[in-house]
Amino acid sequence: ADVQVPAVTGAGLTVPLATGAQIQYANLDHAASAPCLRAVQDAVDELLPWYASVHRGAGFASQVSTKVYERARDVLREFVGARTRDTVVFTRNTTDSLNLLARSLPKTTAVVLFDTEHHAALLPWRGPWVRRIQTPPSPGDAVLALDTALAAAPTGPRLVVLTGASNVTGELWPIVELAEVARRHGARVVLDAAQLAPHRQIDIQAWNVDYVVLSGHKLYAPFGAGALIGRADWLQAAEPYLAGGGATKQVVNWGDRLGVSWSAVPERHEAGSPNVVGVHALAVACRTLAENWHDIEAHELALLHRLRKGLRDVPGLAELSIFDGPRVGVVSFTIDGHDAGLIAAALSAEYGIGVRDGAFCAHIATRRLLTKVGSTEQRALRASLGLGSTAEHVDRLVNALRTLVTEGPALAYRLEEGRWVP
Ligand code: PMP
Repeated sequence: ADVQVPAVTGAGLTVPLATGAQIQYANLDHAASAPCLRAVQDAVDELLPWYASVHRGAGFASQVSTKVYERARDVLREFVGARTRDTVVFTRNTTDSLNLLARSLPKTTAVVLFDTEHHAALLPWRGPWVRRIQTPPSPGDAVLALDTALAAAPTGPRLVVLTGASNVTGELWPIVELAEVARRHGARVVLDAAQLAPHRQIDIQAWNVDYVVLSGHKLYAPFGAGALIGRADWLQAAEPYLAGGGATKQVVNWGDRLGVSWSAVPERHEAGSPNVVGVHALAVACRTLAENWHDIEAHELALLHRLRKGLRDVPGLAELSIFDGPRVGVVSFTIDGHDAGLIAAALSAEYGIGVRDGAFCAHIATRRLLTKVGSTEQRALRASLGLGSTAEHVDRLVNALRTLVTEGPALAYRLEEGRWVP
């Protein structure tokens, strides 16, 4: 009852229904992108008149921007419990961070991952040996499967790709146990924390993780800033991610060739004018969350309990689950005999509720989990909670689903370019 979570923008926003009436928006799509924290909005407002190019300018505004940008690295390092010597490379988002790491691996690195990953974590890996383990039905089996896969991996550098929380089911992965197996086999671990970071405190030192990647827009900051945090050596030995200004120490003419000496990490992988405002927003979001974990978790767990309890009473509804384990505030489901796209469209047009439908950029996971509950659908529905969520939003969703399933939508819908429209 005494839970006080940080405020977000967009609380009380109204949206039009198909009838033209306005209703308070129930954003139940935090897992896609979270609304902006008020503290972040204020910090961005404060910085906007001052932003300028970092590193290169001598003017006061450039000094302010440089300070803000460099301080953000320390905030991010602290946010994930990184080692002092870990580097913090600012990127656009999690996808960008994982692609940067994939491009920076020593050539002979063996990569092991589970096949239920988000496409951002599933697709970037190339190299002589990439093993995608079919995700087993329990965390214990996942630990054994990783052990087996690593035992078969060639000697040399190894990387295990793990996800903190599934973006389909919200389920938490047994990170500590999996990282322990990786360490025994001399493998490094990268943690995709895109979905975990907004919900739980991360501690990569305690968890024995080597790299962590995350996105600002899932962490209550706007789009365009993310980070790769972790061990510097492979990143330092790698070709710069982008070639350009900011990543070079010196460029000279060598006859008709260019002699380029590249900067050390993190600048090595941050060519081009950096997103100072986005990085500041991300850092302020991290700081705000770090001060409020207790209430953030209490708020979410109460709403998650309410949501799952409500969903159990919707006829024909089946929740998707990998492990049937603990989860953050993300629930995907299918409703027997009902098209997910049509339900999502009706929730928006008739109830002002925003959910996601589809396969959530995790096609293998979604299809497998749908099959597991006996569905032949290709698409599911996902409701995801966050700091903008309220009990009224949850109740509205549960009641709307019950009505849609028992009585059908109030309006007629037609398919237009793959989307249902009233
Ligand atoms: N990993 C997971 C688990 C995700 O949920 C997402 C976003 N849906 C990503 C990676 C990719 O994040 P971004 O789109 O910000 O690059």
